[in-house]
Amino acid sequence: MRMEYEVVIGLEVHAQLATVSKIFCGCSTEFGGEANSQICPICLGLPGTLPVLNKKVVDYALMAGLALNCELSRHSKFDRKNYFYPDLPKAYQISQFDRPICQNGYIEIETAAGRKRIGITRIHMEEDAGKLNHEGSIDCSTGSLVDYNRTGVPLIEIVSEPDLRSPAETREYLNQLKQILQYLGVSDCNMEEGSLRCDANVSLRPLGQKEFGTKTELKNMNSFKAVEKALHYEITRQRSLLEQGKKVVQETRTWDDNLAQTISMREKEEAHDYRYFPEPDLLPLEVDHSWIEQIRSNLPELPREKKERFIDQYGLPEYDAGVLTASRALADFFEEGVRAYHEPKAISNWMMGEFLRLLKEAGITVEQAKITGQLLAELLQLIDEGTISSKLAKTVFAESFKTGKDPAAIVEEKGLKQISDQGQLDQLVSRVIAAHPAVVADIRNGKDQAIGFLVGQIMKETRGKANPGLVNKLIREKIETG
Ligand code: ADP
Ligand code: ZN
Ligand code: MG
Repeated sequence: MRMEYEVVIGLEVHAQLATVSKIFCGCSTEFGGEANSQICPICLGLPGTLPVLNKKVVDYALMAGLALNCELSRHSKFDRKNYFYPDLPKAYQISQFDRPICQNGYIEIETAAGRKRIGITRIHMEEDAGKLNHEGSIDCSTGSLVDYNRTGVPLIEIVSEPDLRSPAETREYLNQLKQILQYLGVSDCNMEEGSLRCDANVSLRPLGQKEFGTKTELKNMNSFKAVEKALHYEITRQRSLLEQGKKVVQETRTWDDNLAQTISMREKEEAHDYRYFPEPDLLPLEVDHSWIEQIRSNLPELPREKKERFIDQYGLPEYDAGVLTASRALADFFEEGVRAYHEPKAISNWMMGEFLRLLKEAGITVEQAKITGQLLAELLQLIDEGTISSKLAKTVFAESFKTGKDPAAIVEEKGLKQISDQGQLDQLVSRVIAAHPAVVADIRNGKDQAIGFLVGQIMKETRGKANPGLVNKLIREKIETG
């Protein structure tokens, strides 16, 4: 009989904090600057310099801890993690070892079997390393370049318990985590720019066995999709080993997106001995009650609370509420719209349809869009007043999306005003009826849907501006009386 295995996954996620300056010096954290233009003796670790902790980093770590249901440490400290690599000029990284700032939290994810808690072991603060540029070759003769702009940029590392049971659950956990960090504004979580990095630990165990199996650690996935793919690959690889009676070797493996496989990087025996010791240049970190309370009272509404409120307060379907609370900016857009136009479902429909479609097409974020919730509300009012047809409203929306102009001005400028003038439409209707005697005969013989053809003709002639309801009524009247 074929053995059934259970998948066990735990994640280590690094999030770059959205502070303006680095963790221990005043250098800028801005992404994309010229190489080595944002460095100083402190982040280069030159002799005689001393680090000074950026308070904002602690604020952000505490915010993340509260939002992820952690216990916050009143007494915490920094430690040196020693390793030698050219991206780390000091030859040690300042991190937190045995007293992280936050512990014992959780994230709730939605699974097919309902809501599930994924434990968060710890969150600690640390400084980022620089970036090596191998210029297409790691051959020593061609050499490597290093950019220290990223050195000393603040990170939090969020370590999960091995509570995840599938790549899909892992994806869901990452989505939730990213959403929460973005809501808090503590990280932009931009994976392409490396603001969010995820190492995935995975093992298999025979179903029902209590002890965990031997894990491997997967690195270098640069999207959530890649994390999922790497996990699938690794699960298949480990299962095949176990089925052949072989052992999984504890090791670190790197994901190669082009080959779509994981490749061994280093085995456990080669693992670093980091020789952690307390950072002598920094005082232990004391976080008092009032600091924590001040952070707590300033926490924004979090994604799940917002989603539930959208369902309760606006009567939205759960699906809509989920889409609209995907980001704070989208949710704010919605609420701005609803304040000016009191039909939440109509605002939601336009956002989930036209707005998201145009954002995707333009490849921009909600923040970058020129249209606002207020402008969408004004557009819906124009439809209600009969100033424009709902069909042309899409054209107006697209224009407002592009330019940020208000819908009334666009309607005026482009001459899109709906024709509701009965005299003007009467003439058109008479002409179309006269031109299509066969269709009229069909309608008289009870083929009611044929009327759509005549309405279509008039819409075509007026380039969509005729009031379709009125046209429909006029055609019926004419055919009945004529
Ligand atoms: P290490 O000592 O190798 O650093 P840790 O116990 O510190 O391992 O855990 C690192 C990460 O690996 C955590 O996210 C944890 O949940 C996960 N993890 C630990 N053991 C396993 C396992 N057997 N299978 C899958 N993930 C695991
Ligand atoms: Zn610096
Ligand atoms: Mg560990």
